[in-house]
Amino acid sequence: MTHPKWFLKMWSCVAPRRKLAIVNADTPPEHLQNRNLILAREDDEDWAVAFRCPCGCGDRLELQLIPEAKPHWVLHRDERGHPTLHPSVWRKTGCRSHFWLRSGRIFWC
Ligand SMILES: [Zn+2]
Repeated sequence: MTHPKWFLKMWSCVAPRRKLAIVNADTPPEHLQNRNLILAREDDEDWAVAFRCPCGCGDRLELQLIPEAKPHWVLHRDERGHPTLHPSVWRKTGCRSHFWLRSGRIFWC
């Protein structure tokens, strides 16, 4: 991990919540501009969500949302645009970060 875990936990308490932006496509864009999550939605179907790894390594994470995909995640968006993901994200490669995203906040495991 790029940042020590104590730092990440402290930072996640005070950092601004992440928001969800929606693009009309079946895949999220390759280049992600900021901390927000980008949801690829087409024909009223949510395909995938992409965002930069919150540990600071800068890797682009893409999670499948369609139920047919294995694995896939469930994405909820509250009325203020803050996303929640279920289940947690556990990277098996790279920085091996393991975290939950709830209401736009990162919770480290
Ligand atoms: Zn990372």
